[in-house]
Amino acid sequence: NGSAKGAVVAMPKRTKFANTRSGFDYLIVGAGFAGSVLAERLATELDKRVLLIDRRPHIAGNAYDHYNDAGLLIHRYGPHIFHTNSTQVVNYLSRFTKWRPYEHKVLAHVDEQLVPIPINLTTLEKLYGLKLTPEDAEAFLKSKAEPVAEIRTSEDVVINSVGRELYEKFFRGYTRKQWGLDPSELDKSVTSRVPTRTNTDDRYFGDSFQSMPLHGYTRMFENMLDHPNIKVMLNTDFEEVRNEVQYDKLIYSGPIDEYFDFRFGKLPYRSLQFRHETVDQENFQPVAVVNYPSEDVAYTRITEYKHLTGQVNPRTSLTYEYPAADGDPYYPVPRPENAELYRKYQALADATPDVTFVGRLGTYRYYNMDQVVGQALALFKRIEETEKAESGL
Ligand code: FAD
Ligand code: UDP
Repeated sequence: NGSAKGAVVAMPKRTKFANTRSGFDYLIVGAGFAGSVLAERLATELDKRVLLIDRRPHIAGNAYDHYNDAGLLIHRYGPHIFHTNSTQVVNYLSRFTKWRPYEHKVLAHVDEQLVPIPINLTTLEKLYGLKLTPEDAEAFLKSKAEPVAEIRTSEDVVINSVGRELYEKFFRGYTRKQWGLDPSELDKSVTSRVPTRTNTDDRYFGDSFQSMPLHGYTRMFENMLDHPNIKVMLNTDFEEVRNEVQYDKLIYSGPIDEYFDFRFGKLPYRSLQFRHETVDQENFQPVAVVNYPSEDVAYTRITEYKHLTGQVNPRTSLTYEYPAADGDPYYPVPRPENAELYRKYQALADATPDVTFVGRLGTYRYYNMDQVVGQALALFKRIEETEKAESGL
């Protein structure tokens, strides 16, 4: 603009990774299941050079676990129990870990007792002082159930199968705490995660495969990411590197609304505060997780990790979960208006070339770990086909 100041020499922007061939083939944001599975697949199967970043100081996303000062393996972001019906997912993960068979049991603190949840024959016997056969239990629940013509909400699901009394004892308070919403304001998919049983099966999940990674999730992720084509950068936000790193394609497993600068408004996520505690006693509670549906206490559940690992130690480590509106985004909130808002972001994502969204936050889905692995493997298949078509193979 005609300024006579000393010449300003335009320096080419130096990329931090100019020493790699020509940057990376893929930048992957988020080192949780979604990002790590894709990094592993792209590096191993397609010989791609991958930069995997995470803004947290560790890999494994919400599944991150570590040994605490007492030497007990704990989960930083609450209890992560692995269960699936997918042999494809088991076979894939088994390349990176051995397993410790573990069937998850949960008790609920209701009417001053600890009783099985999912509600089963034993739950009914304990709460009502009855002796029941499975047929009796079925008839009992039928007499309590209040049929709902069109099951739409998380209240409808439970009322329809066990009636209002059991709904209020087990579901209303827990859900109001967990989500900050009444079950009548949440999609039916939320409480549908918890079945009702008329037999004595007291396992939380009915899946064909139920096991924990023998040496923990973090070790499994370390094995997954141990590849010369994968470079991992922690404590690194996408914003810090998006214009600094050369890459051809982007895979993003962070919150999709954040990627688009909240253009259509914020997608709601529910958060949690975790209180981790180690107590000077060998055992604390009879099972890994005890749920507290009452609104008289602020936490929803207490986890005692020893049950998951089988560790022997004179002390025991616990985590209390306190639901919160603000904080790290943990749970997409399943309700119709949120699904509609997500669809707007999804349309934007579809129209954004060379960026793919994946994972619980990237696709705004209340997915379990195995579902995220399945989603990432399916996405990899599509990428593989496209890459092969592009290279004329
Ligand atoms: P995440 O694990 O959330 O990973 C995303 C990563 O992206 C994070 O590490 C984040 O730091 C990073 N990131 C985001 N944005 C950016 C950015 N801009 N720059 C850099 N990094 C970024 N599933 C089960 O199957 N069984 C269970 O028992 C179970 N229990 C759970 C308990 C709790 C309390 C919670 C919250 C979830 C639980 N889950 C469970 C679900 C499980 O955590 C998820 O399915 C899984 O971790 C999702 O993997 P992901 O890769 O999609 O996301
Ligand atoms: N739920 C409840 N009472 C319980 C257990 C679950 O009301 O004792 C409801 C609650 O809304 C919860 C949902 O069922 O968010 C799904 O439970 P799940 O254990 O699958 O939750 P997550 O482990 O994903 O937090």
